[in-house]
Amino acid sequence: MIARRHPRLATLRAALVSLVVSVLAIGVIATPAQAYSWTGCRWPNTQIYVRNTNLSGTDATTAGAAQTAWSNQTDVQINASVSATFTRFVAADGATGVDGSTTWTCSGGTTTAAAAHLNTTYTNGFVANKRQAIWVHELGHGLGLGHSASLAALMYTSAAQVYNTTGAFTPQSDDVLGINARY
Ligand SMILES: [Zn+2]
Repeated sequence: MIARRHPRLATLRAALVSLVVSVLAIGVIATPAQAYSWTGCRWPNTQIYVRNTNLSGTDATTAGAAQTAWSNQTDVQINASVSATFTRFVAADGATGVDGSTTWTCSGGTTTAAAAHLNTTYTNGFVANKRQAIWVHELGHGLGLGHSASLAALMYTSAAQVYNTTGAFTPQSDDVLGINARY
């Protein structure tokens, strides 16, 4: 009798462990296909213009590379224009805990102006690819994306954390889905 009970318990335990493993596996697989969010604003069409105000050196090249990446990978086309109301700049904000930020002006759901910037207090210490990751994130806000729930997306709350974790510095699949669903 005892000899039979132990195998049953062992089988039950094995089944429980299997169930837990299965639930964990489903949890990983069930990462939302669409983790992106929107800000509530978007530009009137897919032709979007930006201009730099005080960018030079690595800040200028990485901002340009981020712009090109969004253009190449999504339905929006971002070009430079001296009259653009979407501006990019850098500022030494200090140790605020924020690598960059973006503000935008919205009228009836349409973006009329945006300003994306990097906080050089932190970003001057970043390698070029990591700086580009922050630009991709901030430009993404300017285009109309909010934060993504996916750590695989550069629109995750912290693009620096995504870069540190995955090495990503161009828009990822969730970022692309978010823009293409918006425009
Ligand atoms: Zn953000």
